Amino acid sequence: MSATVLHLDGLRVPVETGGASRKAKLTIEADGSLRLRAAGDVATDELTRFLASKRDWVYRRLAEKEVLQHEPVTKELVDGEGFLYLGRSHRLKLAGTDGPVRLERGRLVMPSELASNGPMHLIAWYQRCGVTWLLPRVGSWAERLRVEPGGIEVADLGHKWGSATAGRRVRIHWATLQLSPQLVDYVLAHELAHLRAAHHGPAFWQLLARVMPDYDERKRELAQRGAGLWFGEAP
Ligand SMILES: [Zn+2]
Repeated sequence: MSATVLHLDGLRVPVETGGASRKAKLTIEADGSLRLRAAGDVATDELTRFLASKRDWVYRRLAEKEVLQHEPVTKELVDGEGFLYLGRSHRLKLAGTDGPVRLERGRLVMPSELASNGPMHLIAWYQRCGVTWLLPRVGSWAERLRVEPGGIEVADLGHKWGSATAGRRVRIHWATLQLSPQLVDYVLAHELAHLRAAHHGPAFWQLLARVMPDYDERKRELAQRGAGLWFGEAP
């Protein structure tokens, strides 16, 4: 057994060797993690080439699974660290003042006292701003999709971008708010569409295509961009 780990963009791909099959095989587990199985005597650059040839397939599959798959990105709560919000990067500025975490002239201002508790206040900021930003869009997408959601929530959803529950409550992962508005819209419209079609059958995708003709491109971009996001990990 070898402990080789390859990378496809930001994705970790552990390699298992020693299998009976000569042919390399790439699989995606239920949680979205990747694994490459290969015979022991296959050269690493051959495997790297094989992996690169599977790039489109990987992102298509990850998009279908709707799981967040990413290399752990860590962020330090220090001056100058960059944080994404709606596709734009904002530098962190620790301030001696109190008050909440806030955006001020493009800087993300965080009172040092809050920063000493780790990222939880920053995550709470994503949740607060997220709900405010999402609210009017929920209304407009819900109207187009002819659904009546029971409310919107921004939370930590583990490895899911969003969810729509039986209680008609739509939830969006706070980390989603780092993406560009058009990708956040994709996640939102997708979850709202689930209020009319629970499963990913043809009826679901037709419904989504009607209100968002380029949904497929967004879906793929989501899987790709999502791999580089921060999920609250500190060093
Ligand atoms: Zn779905």
